[in-house]
Amino acid sequence: MNNFIPQQPILTQLLQQQQKIVISSHANPDGDALGSSLALYHYLKTLGHEISVIMPTELPDFLNWMPDFDKVLVSYTQAEICKQAIEQATIIFSLDYNALSRVNEVGEWIGSSTAYKVMIDHHLEPENFANAQLWRTSASSTCELVYDFFELLGVWDKVSLEACNCLFVGILTDTGGFRHATSPRLFRVVANILEKGVDNNLISDLVFNDYTIKRFRLLVYCLSQRLELLENLNAGIISLSMFDHNEWDIKRGDLEGVVNYILKIKKLQLAAIVTERKEGVKLSLRSKGEYSVQEICKKHFNGGGHRNASGGSSSENLRQTVQKLKDIIAQNPPIG
Ligand code: 5GP
Ligand code: MN
Repeated sequence: MNNFIPQQPILTQLLQQQQKIVISSHANPDGDALGSSLALYHYLKTLGHEISVIMPTELPDFLNWMPDFDKVLVSYTQAEICKQAIEQATIIFSLDYNALSRVNEVGEWIGSSTAYKVMIDHHLEPENFANAQLWRTSASSTCELVYDFFELLGVWDKVSLEACNCLFVGILTDTGGFRHATSPRLFRVVANILEKGVDNNLISDLVFNDYTIKRFRLLVYCLSQRLELLENLNAGIISLSMFDHNEWDIKRGDLEGVVNYILKIKKLQLAAIVTERKEGVKLSLRSKGEYSVQEICKKHFNGGGHRNASGGSSSENLRQTVQKLKDIIAQNPPIG
């Protein structure tokens, strides 16, 4: 958090004047990407700035109840509007990502902008593209860091219930319902958030119990038909082909959390879901304890993330990618 403190007076001063602000987050936005972006949006809106929230790809439907969800611009479908907003921006926030390559063409536009850039993130190995950074890998979520940001600016008392609802969503999703990446400090932060009037039960229900019948059946299909258990390697891999995508009409967010079910098997330490999409093959990995899936994603799949939750992509086909992953795991299997 300290790396931000020298720049904090600059930002406080900038925010006292009317600015054109862009808040951006990563491709395939999740609860933390949306929660942190919308929380910051709700606060900055009260100061009267002109604000655009931009994400590179489609938003997950299961979060469409979040306040001002429909204000988010998607550069994949609204490229010109997004490009223009970034060109005109005087301040750009990069939330929940640490490299411009994580935001597709938005990254190129941000790279050539002269706006004051602020990165708020908790992923490993950040690139140095911002003027100010609020970065801490021990943070549960970017939402926890946006809370810190409000505290650092000394504005927590002005942060609205709407913004707090958004912060709660990101913390809830990135910690898998307070099961991982938590700390005593996080629970204190959450206590402050709840004191603003956030309805913990309602939001947990909206976030976790929102499956459509189709999505639920897809989960059952993944676990019953598409899961390969590699018991000797203490790992499990779900793979989904383009055919599965078409057959199930899989949309963004439909597979959210599926990979985590694999780790419910006590012995398993590593879980993966490998999906074949129009854009190529995408991997999503999870692990327990010291075993780092971030290293696997970074070294072999042009990706990264956190030690126990990382993603990447592959230019090979589905079968080849799954085989490559198996070989990598076999060379260095987690201890069960
Ligand atoms: P998920 O597996 O849920 O898509 O992502 C898990 C974590 O890895 C998230 O923190 C996400 O930001 C990160 N991540 C996912 N895909 C990629 C990728 O292609 N590149 C990088 N650098 N990080 C990724
Ligand atoms: Mn996050």
